[in-house]
Amino acid sequence: MQRTDMGLSLTTMEARRASLARPELLRSQAYYAGAWRSGEGGETVAVTDPFSGETLAEVASVGEPEIRAAIAAAQTAFATWSRTLNRDRGLLLRRWLELIERDKEDLARLITLENGKPLKEARAEVAYGSSFIEVYADMAAGILGEILPPNAPGRRLMAEREPVGVCAAITPWNFPMAMLTRKIAPALAAGCTMVCKPASETPLTALALAALAEEAGIPPGVLSVLVSAPALFGDIVTASSVVRKITFTGSTPVGAKLMAASAPTIKRLSLELGGNAPLLVFDDADLDAAVETAMVAKFRNGGQSCIAANRIYVQRGIHDAFLAAFQARIEAMKVGDGLDPATDIGPLISARAVEKVERHLDEAMAGGARLVTGGKADGGLLSPPTLVADVASDALLTREETFGPLAGVIPFRTYDQAIARANDTPFGLAAYVCSTRPETIARAGRDLETGMVGINTGLISTAAAPFGGVKSSGIGREGSHHGLSEYLNYKYLCQAGL
Ligand code: NAP
Repeated sequence: MQRTDMGLSLTTMEARRASLARPELLRSQAYYAGAWRSGEGGETVAVTDPFSGETLAEVASVGEPEIRAAIAAAQTAFATWSRTLNRDRGLLLRRWLELIERDKEDLARLITLENGKPLKEARAEVAYGSSFIEVYADMAAGILGEILPPNAPGRRLMAEREPVGVCAAITPWNFPMAMLTRKIAPALAAGCTMVCKPASETPLTALALAALAEEAGIPPGVLSVLVSAPALFGDIVTASSVVRKITFTGSTPVGAKLMAASAPTIKRLSLELGGNAPLLVFDDADLDAAVETAMVAKFRNGGQSCIAANRIYVQRGIHDAFLAAFQARIEAMKVGDGLDPATDIGPLISARAVEKVERHLDEAMAGGARLVTGGKADGGLLSPPTLVADVASDALLTREETFGPLAGVIPFRTYDQAIARANDTPFGLAAYVCSTRPETIARAGRDLETGMVGINTGLISTAAAPFGGVKSSGIGREGSHHGLSEYLNYKYLCQAGL
């Protein structure tokens, strides 16, 4: 590929490095116990740019000795880090944040290169990912215990907050930075230490964050980032009695495996799992707001989001107007290279992802759906934004996460019908409601069985709010003070004889 108008050559690894202001951010070794190393076995995984199909880097994939060394280093570091003054932990997080801010353009570029998402979305992810560090850096100094009313004379009852201990984090490829920082920042603020395994498709952003954490002076062993065979990492951290908590973002089947494997050692768990979000558009909705909600909720990150609107239920009275306006917005989207500033949708992460979208499209069409716009990828990973109408209420795309830019619209008549369909799923992460009637909004907010509800907006993620699901979408919350509590235990002290 030739040097383009965007000023980036995608020809060679050297040229890619040169496109970063600080090429040293692109790391290919694992960072653990405060040092950068390759695995004893010398194994690597290729990280591929989904747009060009070329290899960005061969990253060390470490084995059992290195994973165990990372856990041991986290255990050693915990003794000191957990007793470091809260204020000083917060200051180190602040320093990390400043370095991320300095290198934010390089981080965004790394996200686009390894994930494929448009640079404008990658920049938004860096800002969103950074906001967790900002929030928890500030919260570190405010971790408070309680003095409780005594149950008998001469007693003092106290509930102290203690860090949970060594934590292991496993994250997916769809938000290579934000899924990590929303775990690392509260863990470190609380006084925990953490060993992270990012997705093997997108480890470069994670390793760059580790390099910046090292530069910020976060002590050795407090934060490790390494790539390994996923089941090996999962087996070791779940079986380890040193690791006191697993925090996982990814698919429900893998989350269930980790939960089962953690049972013998009774670990704390945070599981941010798959979604199957419904979007309900009622007759009284503001049309522009409903279409904007659908655009954001469906097409952000090319639909590769756990809170992506997977099923769009539209009431009969507004159905045709909604469909026409939605179609016009979809047809204005540009699919292409994430590094092109005009791109709205980049390539999907893999051929398997494209195949899933097309399987859902084929199944919907076979069930009687009507293709309004879009279609299939042209052999590569550029999947066109696609709209199908009159989708059967039991179509595959209503039951499984499509995780791609395919929007399926299903008409409905009554409120009860819409809610019943929305809740007819094992998942319960997010839902969206578009209506101008306060009563409909309040009832839907109450009746939808999800952890989060967007009301007249598709943009609900913020570090200020507790993000998470119910049912098979997981347990635990990330963001806000609830996200910090996930990394803290209570210790109750009862003192007599006063
Ligand atoms: P995935 O297959 O579950 O992978 C996620 C992470 O788990 C990756 O780091 C993966 O490693 C690792 N992994 C895979 N098998 C494992 C095992 N047996 N033991 C331990 N770790 C293992 O999920 P995905 O398909 O990449 O990601 C998309 C899913 O994540 C969707 O279901 C989406 O809804 C969900 N998600 C949820 C949230 C949320 O907040 N609820 C946010 C984002 C995404 P490798 O990469 O090395 O395979």
